[in-house]
Amino acid sequence: MNHKFLIILLAYCGLASMSRAQEMIIPLYPEGIPCANELEMEIVERYNGAGRLVRKVHQPEIQVFTPAPSIKNGSAVIICPGGGYTILAWDKEGVKIAEWFNSIGVTAFVLKYRLPHWESETCKDKVALSDAQRAIRLVRSRAREWNIASDRIGIMGFSAGGHLASTASTHFDEGDPNATLSVEKYSCRPDFSILMYPVISMDTTIYHRGSRVNLIGKNPEPEKELYFSNEKQVTPETPPTLLIHANDDRGVIPENSVQYYLALRRNKVPAAMHIFEKGGHGFGLAADRGAVAAWPQICAAWMKDRGLLNQHLRALIVDGQNNHKNWPETTPILKNHLESTGLFSVDVATTPAAGMSLEGFNPPFSEYDVVISNYNGASWPETTQKSFERYIQNGGGFVVVHAADNAFPEWRAYNKMIGLGGWNGRTEKDGPYVYLDDEGKKVVDESPGKGGHHGKRHQFIVETRQPEHPIMKGFPTKWLHTNDELYDLMRGPAENMEILASAYSSPEQNGTGRHEPMVMSIHYGLGRVLHTTLGHFNESMLCVGFATLFKRAAEWAATGEVTQAFPSDFPTQDEVLIIGEEE
Ligand code: ZN
Repeated sequence: MNHKFLIILLAYCGLASMSRAQEMIIPLYPEGIPCANELEMEIVERYNGAGRLVRKVHQPEIQVFTPAPSIKNGSAVIICPGGGYTILAWDKEGVKIAEWFNSIGVTAFVLKYRLPHWESETCKDKVALSDAQRAIRLVRSRAREWNIASDRIGIMGFSAGGHLASTASTHFDEGDPNATLSVEKYSCRPDFSILMYPVISMDTTIYHRGSRVNLIGKNPEPEKELYFSNEKQVTPETPPTLLIHANDDRGVIPENSVQYYLALRRNKVPAAMHIFEKGGHGFGLAADRGAVAAWPQICAAWMKDRGLLNQHLRALIVDGQNNHKNWPETTPILKNHLESTGLFSVDVATTPAAGMSLEGFNPPFSEYDVVISNYNGASWPETTQKSFERYIQNGGGFVVVHAADNAFPEWRAYNKMIGLGGWNGRTEKDGPYVYLDDEGKKVVDESPGKGGHHGKRHQFIVETRQPEHPIMKGFPTKWLHTNDELYDLMRGPAENMEILASAYSSPEQNGTGRHEPMVMSIHYGLGRVLHTTLGHFNESMLCVGFATLFKRAAEWAATGEVTQAFPSDFPTQDEVLIIGEEE
């Protein structure tokens, strides 16, 4: 990197032109920079496609690039430009890449890390890694603000920036829960890595000489050489990685990627590697360089396969009171189900305990794509009820599970949302009984009597009634559900309600002899509601049938569509299947 640069700007006063409203510069260490230097940053520009080059970094920071809201998904990448630990190829391996990520819906952060070449002997091997780790913690700590999934924060690096990215991928911690600074409480483990013609090793048989000298000096201690030879630092916890290199790269030979790939493979870390015949070193987006120009599509396809381009949905589970004392166990089961889809980040709003005032319990429903109720307790304050009604009226999603349909007998709008309810004084005043006859026709029965009942707890067959509904697509016509309560005699307004699945409530089990609704979809205003009466025991919720139904229901309630693949292993009519008990 000994070219002569035209120095356009010497004094640094903020990199961003702020030409786009959403661009932002965020300093990494507002509390004071560790190993601070006295440098004055320089920016030079080359007119051969490289654009701006940054050197003598004094103030490490990230520049935020946000995709258009319509295509934004929940993933983020922190980009480390390359430049032999002497400069940063800010545009070619930073801004241009960030803009490309924005085009596929990914939020990008270009990292302006300190460059070991300009640093003191005591700091040179510390600053870049420190900056990368802080950047990851910072993005994770503010994930919510940027609507990023906190488990979809990756790191990408080019050349020496690839060394930094692979160093951050092999040297990380889960954060310090006792830290006084809140950002330090967050994990700095990247969730995935994308390494572009990376320097990996300090081993002199394959190393990039300049990067090694800049980082650890001409005659490093063997421990430092080992520490920064990242192919020797891979563990099973190293994040899934994509490696891109060119066979004719003479700056950083492809053996760097190959050795890292082999280490990932030995440690059973998901890994992909693409070596192009031509491309040389430092190809950036490589738009005009032949086959290597395909790498962005390969990167996007890899991310898609890993679920990293999925839409990011926000779910809120409400709990805190329930006559089902296992609610502190069932909420985590529901949360796990949602998180296992890779689509949701999940918050839980827990009310004060029974008997305490609920004044002040008012979750920000409108910030969520779907709300799940695992709540059967005292009435919410009127302002909370009104806010929830507005949320659903305006198109919010709602999933009601099992005893949550016992709740709020006096709240009219709630009963309209859930279609049918039971217990807590429900009678003919609350609406008809609704069930199916032997031909599958809906029966609306106005006869008087109390609402809500179940027979003995037992395994029973659930029958799909609307196989074309997005939630039910893929479900067999009949499947055996595990031990549960089969709710019957449910009654309610049942407006705009469709029965998606039912179960026969057998008199032998002290049931009604009717086909009772098990899964109902309801439209309330613009909102979508899915109500299932299943889910009494922990085990009932761990049934693969319930889990599948619930995960699909939450996505449908949130978006109107279901993108999840139907599980290949599913209960049959004769055999239940419980999560964790599969063979
Ligand atoms: Zn129950």
